[in-house]
Amino acid sequence: MIGRIIFFTFSRYYYMLNKVLIVYTGGTIGMVQDENGSLHPFALDRIYDAVPQLRACSYDIDSCQLDNIIDSSNMTPDFWVSIAEIIEREYDNYDGFVVLHGTDTMAYTAAALSFMFKNLAKPVVLTGSQLPLGMLRSDGRENIICALEIASGRLAQVSEVCIFFESHLYRGNRATKVSAENFDAFESYNFPSLAKAGINITFKEHLLLPRPTEPLQVRKHFDTRVAVLKLFPGITEAVVQSVLRTPGLQGVVIETYGSGNAPTERWFLDALAEAIGRGVIVFNITQCKAGSVKMKQYAASCDMDRLGVVGGADITIEAGVVKMMYLLGCYPDNKEHVRERLCVPLRGEMMA
Ligand code: ASP
Repeated sequence: MIGRIIFFTFSRYYYMLNKVLIVYTGGTIGMVQDENGSLHPFALDRIYDAVPQLRACSYDIDSCQLDNIIDSSNMTPDFWVSIAEIIEREYDNYDGFVVLHGTDTMAYTAAALSFMFKNLAKPVVLTGSQLPLGMLRSDGRENIICALEIASGRLAQVSEVCIFFESHLYRGNRATKVSAENFDAFESYNFPSLAKAGINITFKEHLLLPRPTEPLQVRKHFDTRVAVLKLFPGITEAVVQSVLRTPGLQGVVIETYGSGNAPTERWFLDALAEAIGRGVIVFNITQCKAGSVKMKQYAASCDMDRLGVVGGADITIEAGVVKMMYLLGCYPDNKEHVRERLCVPLRGEMMA
């Protein structure tokens, strides 16, 4: 079972200080070395042993963990819902939330949470590390401490889902994992970082999403009947059709070239037309790390535009896939609405 949570309370001055809840889901950050040198998940009730600097912080920290601690390559929408439900349940009790998460799929989870939380008025900061907390050179301590500082709400009014990693705070649905080696493992190519941690944590307040006045709403349905089709020179009709004819397919993210270009060969366009005719939504996202899809800029995207392919502007592949699942889950009987909402920013995930 995913949803059961185990709570640890470290609160010292319960009624005086800002309060942050850590939600521990797994990943490298949570590993400590035992006496034989092997790595295993640390018990969250020992967090002050793992990060003794936290004893000096000026806010209260509680923490909880999913009872199924995972490597984030096992992440699923059910886990996203479990994380969201914890935050929803505890929303009024804390000033902010830190989600400890594996780096591999952190960008997907950040995007999912950003879409699920409509009118979020508090910080939800995901972080993790490249080296386990229990190792001498771990980047995890600094990442946790900065994420907690930001989530405590004492520095700036952050009302969105973010990723903090190696001195940068990113909008969660704009971030992408770029390195399996470096400590600065994340990047946000199409949107500046929201804050930078040096001697001070300096925010670019004008970039933060405005604080909503309406109450929080949490939407929890994802339709996973989607696929990603990455183009490459030489891709065959059989490969394209094997994706587009997947039984039950509702949406496909097509990873195109440059500013949203794709082959103009007849077989390719016919395959797209047939899928769209069956009700499959096709979302055009560029393979380029930076920049935007501009449908109709080249002849190579005019045909797709005519067929009804939806342009994804400058959205990341992670946010694009999750947005497709989220909108199909929200509006299962209204494909037109899904198509319309795909190309407008819902939580700052794409340019307007
Ligand atoms: N495989 C790990 C995970 O994503 C990697 C990490 O945490 O950095 O859970």
